Amino acid sequence: MSELVSTRIRSTAGKLGLPHLAEAINEYIRRAGEGKMGYLDFLDLVLSEELAVRDDRRIRQGLRLSKLPHHKTLDEYDFSFQPDLDPHKVKDLATLSFVEAKANAALLGPPGVGKTHVTVALAVAACRAGYSIYFTSLDDMVRNLRAAEAAGRLLNKLGTYLRPSVLVVDEVGYQPLERAEANLVFQVISKRYEKGSIILTSNKTFSEWGQVFGDEVIAINGPSYRLKNRLAVIERNTNVA
Ligand code: ADP
Ligand code: MG
Repeated sequence: MSELVSTRIRSTAGKLGLPHLAEAINEYIRRAGEGKMGYLDFLDLVLSEELAVRDDRRIRQGLRLSKLPHHKTLDEYDFSFQPDLDPHKVKDLATLSFVEAKANAALLGPPGVGKTHVTVALAVAACRAGYSIYFTSLDDMVRNLRAAEAAGRLLNKLGTYLRPSVLVVDEVGYQPLERAEANLVFQVISKRYEKGSIILTSNKTFSEWGQVFGDEVIAINGPSYRLKNRLAVIERNTNVA
């Protein structure tokens, strides 16, 4: 292909906001020549690659903005370790129909059973599906809202927790809230109501803090996965002894 044409394509692709095409044009031409592609297949290749690159960029940026503590998936979750947890319930949540419906979900259980893991996995799936995500512990949210309130910037800070399609509130109920703090949390919940989803985790049972949040409730009541490894070490050590 003449240099002139490829230079023009690069410039046009840039103006159209197709940066990958602008970069990869020579590679496309090479692949097209190798594969003896027809026009249709060639256009299909160029457009689907551009879309894949764009999706990838969007997901990476979404995950960065989400403040998720890690990006574990449900594939990494060993359901056989929690026989009381119904995998169907979790997989049902993973279809994200509750996010679509702007409903909420709560994962309840003692420490170490994988509440945060499952929640993060749902949030990663939602991010991939195009929803915006924000992860916070309840304590961090309360602390940030209080500080913002004291600085006269509450409205602005509330936006952080109201804007994302999915707000993950981790570790609800670990610390008791003062009245003013509970009021701030209530503002977030009531303003998000039917506008966006909340996924929360708590070590409290549902009845302990009332039906404020919940539509979908999943209780994981089995043993701690963290303790599993520790127990294995202890067992190994006792066996050796
Ligand atoms: P919780 O939030 O309930 O306290 P986490 O989600 O933080 O528990 O889980 C603790 C650690 O154990 C994490 O590293 C998590 O990935 C892992 N984990 C917990 N349960 C499982 C499981 N069933 N399969 C695989 N990893 C698990
Ligand atoms: Mg946790």
